[in-house]
Amino acid sequence: SYAWFSQRAWIEIDLAALSHNVRQLVGLLSARTQLMAVVKADAYGHGAVAVAQTALESGASWLGVATIPEGIQLREAGIQAPILILGATHTAEQIQAIAHWQLQPTVCSPKQALVFSNTLEAMNERSPLAVHIKLDTGMSRLGTNWQQAGEFVKLVQSLPHLQIASIYSHLATADSPDTTVMEEQHRRFEEAIAQIQAMGIKTPCLHLANSAATLANSSLHYDIVRVGLAVYGLYPSPHLQATIKLKPVLQVKARVTQVKTIAAGTGVSYGHQFIAPQELRLAVVGIGYADGVPRHLSNNMQVMIRGQRVPQIGTITMDQLMVDVSAIEDIQEGEIVTLLGEQGKEKISADEWAEKLNTISWEILCGFKHRLPRVAM
Ligand code: PLP
Repeated sequence: SYAWFSQRAWIEIDLAALSHNVRQLVGLLSARTQLMAVVKADAYGHGAVAVAQTALESGASWLGVATIPEGIQLREAGIQAPILILGATHTAEQIQAIAHWQLQPTVCSPKQALVFSNTLEAMNERSPLAVHIKLDTGMSRLGTNWQQAGEFVKLVQSLPHLQIASIYSHLATADSPDTTVMEEQHRRFEEAIAQIQAMGIKTPCLHLANSAATLANSSLHYDIVRVGLAVYGLYPSPHLQATIKLKPVLQVKARVTQVKTIAAGTGVSYGHQFIAPQELRLAVVGIGYADGVPRHLSNNMQVMIRGQRVPQIGTITMDQLMVDVSAIEDIQEGEIVTLLGEQGKEKISADEWAEKLNTISWEILCGFKHRLPRVAM
């Protein structure tokens, strides 16, 4: 359907670029290592189902989500690949949903493992549930302290209804050029594995790496790498750009809805935070902060029209923003404006916004609202 064509604003998802990124990433991995595409938060705002399907067709074999509803959405779309829930789950209702939809939960503590086992017992569940043991090696988020890894794994192994599918941990500083903390987390993970093996337990599948660690160091790859950002074509840090060529998947576009000339001295938008220094040609664009264009970028961003960058002027409003198009001849209503993406030789990336906003590209991608239709190209 081309209904999107009449939209005032939309997001274009380049599935060929996504497939390229996944194939490039798989190319970095040895035969031992599988790729998990992290598709939580609606695939970082890209649309989870289309992204998951394309990633699986392109060489990923696992999917990672944060919540049960995110996993159910993929199952309802007919996706059969293993799905790891990276977040914590606790209640009987959650455990029932996990078993019903064949999702694979993260088990973060002995207490949670017991709740799982007891709930599955009460449910009369026959087949064991595949669970993933989370160790905290220095992120101080979910997981049991790595020094207790042996006891924790032994307990889970002894519980009926649970089968350990993997043991994993998450890195706190993998995107930093200073690798000191990452190396310490790697050492702790290795120490935990040695502790588990010393108890005579055969270690299952192991995983530690996010995008940054996958790009930075193959000794962190283990059996699975959990890759989010790089699948979407962005680099966790400029110093990791040399490894492989990634292509950004998402573009944000909107249309010019009105064009007018304003006189020198005219105020633009709420609060008149911009006053025209001379007569200028102004275009109104049909996208605003309720679509996910951060209001903090007001008077401090550019957009692309006809392959040229032009400045945004005045406060960004809920549904609309204004740009100064004086530099371009005869702009028409209905013309396409690219806020993020590529037009001719010009490019504006989520990294450019992130830098201006003192945040990270992950947050920019996740910030686009569902009012913007996602159009797969
Ligand atoms: N693994 C876990 C546990 C995560 O929470 C995330 C995302 O934050 C990832 C992997 C993927 O991280 P990235 O997007 O940096 O590749």
